Amino acid sequence: MPGDGVGTYRLSEEQVLLRDTLRQLADERIAPRAAEIDRTGEVPDDIRQLLAHHDVLALPFPEAYGGVGVDLLTVCLAIEQIARACTTSSLILAVQELGSLPIRLGGSDELKSRLLPALASGERLAAFALTESEAGSDVASTRTRAVRDGDEYVINGTKRFITNGSVAGVITTFAVTDPEGARTKNLSAFAVEVPTPGFSVVRLEHKLGIRGSPTAELAFENVRVPAANRIGEEGDGWKLAMKTFERSRPGIAAQAVGIAQGALEAAVAYARERKQFGGRIGDLQMIQAMLADMAAEVEAARQLTYKACAEVEAGATDAAKWAAMAKLVAGDTAMSVTTDAVQVFGGYGYTEDFPVERMMRDAKITQLYEGTQQIQRLVIARQLLGRPG
Ligand SMILES: Cc1cc2nc3c(=O)[nH]c(=O)nc-3n(C[C@H](O)[C@H](O)[C@H](O)COP(=O)(O)OP(=O)(O)OC[C@H]3O[C@@H](n4cnc5c(N)ncnc54)[C@H](O)[C@@H]3O)c2cc1C
Repeated sequence: MPGDGVGTYRLSEEQVLLRDTLRQLADERIAPRAAEIDRTGEVPDDIRQLLAHHDVLALPFPEAYGGVGVDLLTVCLAIEQIARACTTSSLILAVQELGSLPIRLGGSDELKSRLLPALASGERLAAFALTESEAGSDVASTRTRAVRDGDEYVINGTKRFITNGSVAGVITTFAVTDPEGARTKNLSAFAVEVPTPGFSVVRLEHKLGIRGSPTAELAFENVRVPAANRIGEEGDGWKLAMKTFERSRPGIAAQAVGIAQGALEAAVAYARERKQFGGRIGDLQMIQAMLADMAAEVEAARQLTYKACAEVEAGATDAAKWAAMAKLVAGDTAMSVTTDAVQVFGGYGYTEDFPVERMMRDAKITQLYEGTQQIQRLVIARQLLGRPG
């Protein structure tokens, strides 16, 4: 029976090859750009093109729609390797996955054929618009409305904190279609193709980290969307969002593992070089203990993340719990390991001369988005106590 922890994994030769190839690509082409992207806050279109050119953005999409059609673990291996070099860049793949998942999970064949090829090629970017100013953790408080009008829906409302909302061509947008309906049954999802009349980007956030990843507030004023762009049936929105999180939260966990791995490697390299009291700081037992703890934490988070991928792929009945546990553990690991990395660097770690302060700022977001750490605990506890929902 799925749900009993039966999902197993062992990296295949292809997965190892992809992981190592991407690590090299990230070292050579992405890492050298990371500090500048962070400093200027530029949206790195060159990295989008690089990932598209190497078919990295195509990884999660089925071959029938121009993708490579790999499993979740392979997508996570890719996100991890990119995040090890640059968190902002890893979000290009993670959000292409997040924004397109509802379409892949619940869209009609016609909708998939129409929209997925340009997303798989990276020509268009996807975004996922669920959060609103009054509906953050409490998704069921969504106010954005979609009203059927003949062959179209008319959407009104605003969305907050939408990654890639200002650069995406397809925005998966969640809106209430049945205001009288039960809280988890009144939402529907729509693939909104932009630009379109009535749609606007209100503003972009200035953020602690992931500064090259645009986070947009979006307004929908009488935006007309063909009924054919509804994803699934009316009322499927909540279910689609939760199914999406089962596959996207392991991606954020992988991002967190990548950030932590990058910080660990930087700290080890520094501990080998930096001399105080006539010797390498790496010879000091207190530094050694910190590095050892960091390495153990990163590996534990990595293995849990890969295991969660295997459980999700195996169709485990408690897949949501596995996804939440991976994001919870990996997010906290990224925060603690990057903080310790700054400690290993001493005062230099606090400056822009080294990458660890950027990694520490970037790590924080993995404890917040796609459900805060508190929400992951709720998901896990509900599964344990038999109160799903
Ligand atoms: C950079 C960035 C990018 C984002 N990208 C996207 C995106 O692409 N698409 C999208 O839809 N959203 C996105 N988000 C939104 C993100 O998912 C939300 O910010 C997050 O879910 C939390 O919602 P909130 O900010 O409204 O916090 P709130 O829900 O107001 O939470 C405030 C605090 O209360 C705690 N809390 C809330 N409810 C409970 C509870 N029941 N039990 C215990 N504690 C609770 C929270 O954990 C948190 O500590 C993004 C956010 C950021 C910052």
